[in-house]
Amino acid sequence: MGIVALAGGIGAAKLLEGLYAELGEDLTIIVNVGDDDTFFGLKVSPDLDIITYTLGGIIDPARRWGLADETFKCIAALGTYYPETWFNLGDKDLATHIFRTDRLNQGKSLAEVSHEIAHKLGLSCTILPATNDIVQTKLYTSQGVLDFEEYFVKFRAGVPVTKIDYRGAADAVPTPGVLETIARAERVIICPSNPMLSIAPILAVPGIRAAVAARRDTTIAVTPIIQGDAVKGPTAHLFRELGYDVNPLGVVDYYGADLFAHFVVDARDEDLLLELSPDRFPLPVNFTMFDTLMVDFGKRLELAKYLLQYPI
Ligand code: GDP
Repeated sequence: MGIVALAGGIGAAKLLEGLYAELGEDLTIIVNVGDDDTFFGLKVSPDLDIITYTLGGIIDPARRWGLADETFKCIAALGTYYPETWFNLGDKDLATHIFRTDRLNQGKSLAEVSHEIAHKLGLSCTILPATNDIVQTKLYTSQGVLDFEEYFVKFRAGVPVTKIDYRGAADAVPTPGVLETIARAERVIICPSNPMLSIAPILAVPGIRAAVAARRDTTIAVTPIIQGDAVKGPTAHLFRELGYDVNPLGVVDYYGADLFAHFVVDARDEDLLLELSPDRFPLPVNFTMFDTLMVDFGKRLELAKYLLQYPI
């Protein structure tokens, strides 16, 4: 049966460290591909790599993306030939992108290549891109319509966003095994990832949202917003710009209460729950509280255990 987690990048990877320690091969991770892009002809899958590197114990511990002990000589040299080199690709990290691109060019699917990479790093859990097709998160801003990486890295998430869409999602097909795994899982966990940039592109692949909603009673989500702010990244200002409350209740509004019956609010936001009216959402949601700020491995493990033991 096992456990399924829907995941973006850095926020998700922290929780996944705990879940993987508890579950090993019983964990299946369905990963966002909306941030994937091509740089210098190489296919880059940032969320897949953050998760694989984190669980493989080779992530840079300070940045929480890319590899530990990294150098950036190749990207600097590429500046000789390319006018723009704002996307930081480390020298060792490039090996992953070269391998991925090579295998894709040989006709392998993204899921097959992701499996090969995870296997070579010695991981026993299953890591599945949400789809093998191309889904591109596009952000509408005063600087034009930006790809996720342009928005996040080039503009440092500093331009106001008026709309987001997930180009290609409507025609994408879930990776084989994704819908079945969600249907059979003991419980489904929605990681504390950016709802709009990391989880929505997964749910936008036809069939995935319906598969999770069908498991509503056994699906639990964790807030990525604590005390009116994101722990890191643009979640809070995207929520504000797109008209949602910047708190866990705004997160539930955004996802829709039809998606899950259980939601973990950070213990620091206890006041929100004390004031909550029972008919705040169209369907009843069981709110629970825990310390979700995963500052170290101990905290990641505690939250993972809590999610696995939470009575549903
Ligand atoms: P990204 O794709 O690398 O930005 O990563 P994700 O989408 O997976 O995660 C970003 C979200 O994770 C942000 O909204 C953060 O607020 C949230 N986040 C990061 N660390 C933590 C944490 O320790 N606890 C909680 N509750 N949320 C976190």
